[in-house]
Amino acid sequence: MDLGLTGKVALVAAASKGLGRAVAEELAAEGAHLVLCARTDDTLQQTCAAIREASGGRVLGVAADVAKPADVARLVQAALAEFGRIDILVTNAGGPPAGTFEQHDAAAWEAATHLLLTSVVELTRAVLPGMKARGWGRILNITSIAVKQPVGGLLLSNSLRAAVTGMARTLANEVAAAGITVNNILPGYTRTERVEHLASAAATREGISEAEATARWTNEIPMRRLGEPREFAALAAFLCSERASYITGTSTAVDGGWLKGLY
Ligand code: NAD
Repeated sequence: MDLGLTGKVALVAAASKGLGRAVAEELAAEGAHLVLCARTDDTLQQTCAAIREASGGRVLGVAADVAKPADVARLVQAALAEFGRIDILVTNAGGPPAGTFEQHDAAAWEAATHLLLTSVVELTRAVLPGMKARGWGRILNITSIAVKQPVGGLLLSNSLRAAVTGMARTLANEVAAAGITVNNILPGYTRTERVEHLASAAATREGISEAEATARWTNEIPMRRLGEPREFAALAAFLCSERASYITGTSTAVDGGWLKGLY
């Protein structure tokens, strides 16, 4: 299937590693040009070089913290200066700290709001006028399975990703007639550095093996394994494509069956 992504310009946020990087790799393999961001320039430029080499496409890396509106504005300006337009926006950020309601003070809520919600609002605000003017656009938010089934101990993530979902569902209706789709993609437990680090930290803390720590997650997954970032990126690339032109307002999980409801 030709996804119709050749020559499209995609901005993928928080993409030096993990899910963001996998989505960037998949879009580049389909012929898209990329603008990627992450906070640490060294790691980001290494990722950009690797994707450039593998795909032969144009890849711009801009060091930026998506939690800071000024960084988001600078990122989008750099993208427009290089490519003149942004056809596809994939929002993403690092995960907020774990914890219960009583463990988070006002500052923790504010920081998580900037990271998970304001980042999506500002990125979307910056790309939308160009998409409307061209009558074509794709906005894809990386959220979490937590928006359909809250995960214990992840109060900030459960709360703020739900806000992103509400915004995206409303925006989808507002911009559908302008040729812009807005969707959310929900990772389940996927083998990224972050998840490997969480397993290793739990193993050290509790004196168990990393395999035992990982098994706590995989035992809840009908496929009995973690997802691979490429499996997640395949759906992401499709939702960003020309071929997904009649799909908007959706929240789709890539979770090996972890969600148990009728969604
Ligand atoms: P990861 O830690 O492997 O990668 C995160 C990427 O985001 C890195 O490139 C990092 O440099 C970048 N980043 C982090 N904070 C940033 C910021 N403020 N500004 C710019 N770049 C930033 O994480 P991941 O596993 O790929 O997860 C990505 C998102 O998906 C997170 O929000 C995570 O909570 C969520 N998620 C992941 C899983 C999973 O199993 N991997 C499951 C559900 C939700």
